[in-house]
Amino acid sequence: MRRIQQLPALVVNQIAAGEVIERPASVVKELLENAVDAGSRRIEVEIEQGGIDLIRVVDDGCGIVAEDLPLAFASHATSKLTSADDLFHIETLGFRGEALASIGGVAQVTLQSRPPEETYGAQITCHGGQLGEVRPWNGSSGTRVEVRHLFYNTPVRRKFLRTPATEMGHISEVFTRLALAHARSTFERDGARSCRATGLHLTLRHNHKTVYDLPASMALLERIAVLFGPDVSKQLYAIQAHQGPATLTGYIADPACERGTSRMQYLFVNGRWVRDRTLGHAVQEAYRGLLMTGRYAVAFLFLDLPPDQVDVNVHPTKAEVRFRDSPALHHLVFSTIRQRLRTENLTARLQLPSTIKPTETLGTPSPTAASFDSAPWALAPPPASEHGPALPFASPQPPTQPMPGEITPQPAPLPQLTAAHPPTKIIQLYDAYLVVETEEGMLVIDQHALHERILFEQIKRRMQSGPLETQPLLVPEPIELTAEQAARTLEHREALAELGLGIEDFGGGTILLTSYPALLGRRSPQEILRAVVDHLISREQPPSREVLFNDLMSLMACHSAVRAGERLTPEQMTALVEQRHLADDTHHCPHGRPTALLFSRHELERQFRRV
Ligand code: ADP
Ligand code: MG
Repeated sequence: MRRIQQLPALVVNQIAAGEVIERPASVVKELLENAVDAGSRRIEVEIEQGGIDLIRVVDDGCGIVAEDLPLAFASHATSKLTSADDLFHIETLGFRGEALASIGGVAQVTLQSRPPEETYGAQITCHGGQLGEVRPWNGSSGTRVEVRHLFYNTPVRRKFLRTPATEMGHISEVFTRLALAHARSTFERDGARSCRATGLHLTLRHNHKTVYDLPASMALLERIAVLFGPDVSKQLYAIQAHQGPATLTGYIADPACERGTSRMQYLFVNGRWVRDRTLGHAVQEAYRGLLMTGRYAVAFLFLDLPPDQVDVNVHPTKAEVRFRDSPALHHLVFSTIRQRLRTENLTARLQLPSTIKPTETLGTPSPTAASFDSAPWALAPPPASEHGPALPFASPQPPTQPMPGEITPQPAPLPQLTAAHPPTKIIQLYDAYLVVETEEGMLVIDQHALHERILFEQIKRRMQSGPLETQPLLVPEPIELTAEQAARTLEHREALAELGLGIEDFGGGTILLTSYPALLGRRSPQEILRAVVDHLISREQPPSREVLFNDLMSLMACHSAVRAGERLTPEQMTALVEQRHLADDTHHCPHGRPTALLFSRHELERQFRRV
């Protein structure tokens, strides 16, 4: 029988590292947080090869005295709390005393530090948990941590690392979160921690090139513009509200700025980036009726609370917290955003598919939602000229009115639509459904679902004979993404090229759209690419090739198809109905919804007691 034994410190550290140090970005997060906790004004991050080779964080904070250097690498050693009571009044980002021990266990670390009041500093190394000697160091005041060859002694974990570009993307995201949390704020914040009244000067460099240089004087909105592009920053509305001891400030985006994932909903609680399901739900609830199902609002929210109102000790990387009064905060977030959107009077500009009723309940109803249900969220249809005069359907022969005496070739009679009464009688209802008279009965078609299916089939068929034909863009269109999103998108460059989407790296999170599938020329190619990008970055695991292509084809079809809410001309209606027979399975859209319902003639007659 095996005996129980205490694990050696090294193994303990590696287990802890498994929790907090997943990839280079986790190291960067921990080092940045330590620098912030040290009261730094300026922090520089230098990365080589996506952090796999080198991560260096230099700050000008309080430093560590020479005698404490070995303790910095000891597990559960911290200067940030002394008793269990302190756990409920945490005002620092760190407190577990585990990060440096974990990093030191799985990399080659050099820690150099000099408190400003000391004449000399000192340094120490920790290679795979082996501490070196404390030696003098003659550097400027503050702390400098260098982490080389992450996971060099744990080959299995090293194998999990992705390409340097992808790892750099994750680092960039970590940096972005911290930069947002520590931007100069123009909001008045009662009782908010002073570190956010002035910003932190933050620099990120990768392979000796500056990725971001964010001066302390740069206000939050300017930082958002630098980090996410003017597309986002120009569509933001400031919010500010108080409720009891809680203050909510930040920016919310116009619904037009929607995304396919919730990753652009940034939430900071007392200067710490967190994920929170309840508050995420509050944001979505506030936008209810303004966004399609599956689309997410963009928001930058800063919640400031007394530290005893929030428990940060529930998650090893502190990405989740527990609120003492979660329903109250849900209400604060929901009502503040809803109110703000209402004052913007977005109704006139919005276009919403009529399949989603503004009062329809999506998810758990919030206690206050009912009071807004009577709000005037009625939505105006888009102007008729919005998509130009072009016919929306790639019809080989746009139907024209026959001249008297001229013989026009008629499309072959469709099995479902016998040409008994040409031209087929079609009417459009609610700008969303086409009602067609057929031999069997009355066919009600969902215009979006059918068009989507037809496009999907067309794309699929053309793909079988090689890459899709592309339409080059004379002037490539820049698409602003975060560096992480750009990296993850560029990984799929070849697959996208086969689908007709040509992209190129423009650097700094921008990719250039150089061509788009000729088949889908109807809607803005950027919009299609955006949807594709949202899809790619929302997946944790890279999908198989087959799944990827299927997903992207259906996504492109969905985004190019005519929408519910679009008024069609009689010619467009005819073209759409006539293309029904071109697709193999026109009964369902690629998502499995039916494209048409038949009310049989017999059934009508039966109901009216004619038979
Ligand atoms: P924690 O941050 O949870 O306390 P860490 O392992 O990250 O644990 O750091 C251990 C200790 O090392 C900290 O409590 C702090 O005293 C010291 N330390 C780490 N980084 C810095 C830094 N950049 N400046 C000053 N002190 C630091
Ligand atoms: Mg720490």
